[in-house]
Amino acid sequence: MLNPELLAILRCPKCRGVLQERSSASPAAKSGDAEPATLALVCAACQLSYAVDDGIPNLLIEEAQSCAA
Ligand SMILES: [Zn+2]
Repeated sequence: MLNPELLAILRCPKCRGVLQERSSASPAAKSGDAEPATLALVCAACQLSYAVDDGIPNLLIEEAQSCAA
């Protein structure tokens, strides 16, 4: 879990949208993979997903992944 106060001040660097914490297994993970669910910050506006590394959000647009359906 991220610090709620940190989450409250973070904004999507691309569109300034509100970020929501999301914990989900990688869709690329194969069954039998022991990897734990990964934490990510998802922008509600533009649907970019930013990885969270060791509790540190990686808010680089170049490394964000679109999670738009
Ligand atoms: Zn955004």
